[in-house]
Amino acid sequence: MSESLLEVRNLEKYFPIKSGLFQRTTGHVKAVDGVSFDINRGETLALIGESGSGKSTIAETIIGLKSATGGSITFDGEDITDLSESELEDLRTKVQMVFQDPTSSLNPRRTVEQTLEVPLKARGVPRGERVSRIVDLLERVELNPEHRHRYPHELSGGQKQRINIARAISIEPELLILDEPTSALDVSVQAKIVRLLDDLQEEFDLTYLFITHDLSLVRNVAERTAVMYLGQIQERAQTEQLFEQPHHPYTQALLSAIPVTSDDEEAYKPQQDRLEGEIPSPENVPTGCRFHTRCPYATDVCETDQVPLHAVDDHGEARCHIYDPEHADAFENVPDVKTAAAVRSTPHE
Ligand code: SF4
Repeated sequence: MSESLLEVRNLEKYFPIKSGLFQRTTGHVKAVDGVSFDINRGETLALIGESGSGKSTIAETIIGLKSATGGSITFDGEDITDLSESELEDLRTKVQMVFQDPTSSLNPRRTVEQTLEVPLKARGVPRGERVSRIVDLLERVELNPEHRHRYPHELSGGQKQRINIARAISIEPELLILDEPTSALDVSVQAKIVRLLDDLQEEFDLTYLFITHDLSLVRNVAERTAVMYLGQIQERAQTEQLFEQPHHPYTQALLSAIPVTSDDEEAYKPQQDRLEGEIPSPENVPTGCRFHTRCPYATDVCETDQVPLHAVDDHGEARCHIYDPEHADAFENVPDVKTAAAVRSTPHE
């Protein structure tokens, strides 16, 4: 059994841009453009980035809601890039997804019991066992078994998301894709859902792909984190390493925008201006480094030369010319981004 449960290689998802009377294809939105990562069994990988960075498109492509334009996805050693409908049904007994909006994910005309019965029935659980399984599932997600008689409009946002999680784990999947599972919820409820997910992961030996725009959330959730911007991974590292020493100017900007609650936390924040401006349209991706229109360190080479991921330490990589010795001259006169990264690991006096 390989250590990697999911392997994504050079994944591309392009959407055609059509225009004119005959709706001819005049270009492509490169929503996901050459993304690679692995997730090991039992671990959590976080994909973070602003909306429009391609995170959710990756999730929907993995689970077959969208087809890949290029690249490959391997789950448990099997190529799942291009599956038939029946093969997708099989896949979804092993890979489940929890969506951002807990309300639209539930049928308003079905009680909780009716909702949770569907996957159990599809899995062949006999009728007589289903109620006890549903009661068990509700207890697992810390809801009163009496909630099974309620309709979605009788539940809070947090309770609805617990039902969505119960439905996802009801068929005992191996991989859960969590697409902004807490962003529609109050902060106090978010913490409870994150704790619940943590407990379930331990209990069921689950593997998580955790997608969020909220960097502060991933620190206690994910072993490794990949930072997305305009369809590409800009940095990936062990999560603790990423927080202690972010290497990419975009990661530094994201971290500098996290609200802090103490002087100690303030002292560890990257000393970089906050991110300004909106993420450019994926229909019109900047040339060279995609981040150059917002990067405080950008030089001429950033506008022209595409950037590969460069190794920055034993475990991490950053898509930035600053880490390419061949471009050392181009950054002679800009503040040292490496120093900005190191600031985080050195407490201020
Ligand atoms: Fe900034 Fe240039 Fe690095 Fe891109 S390559 S992140 S523009 S310094």
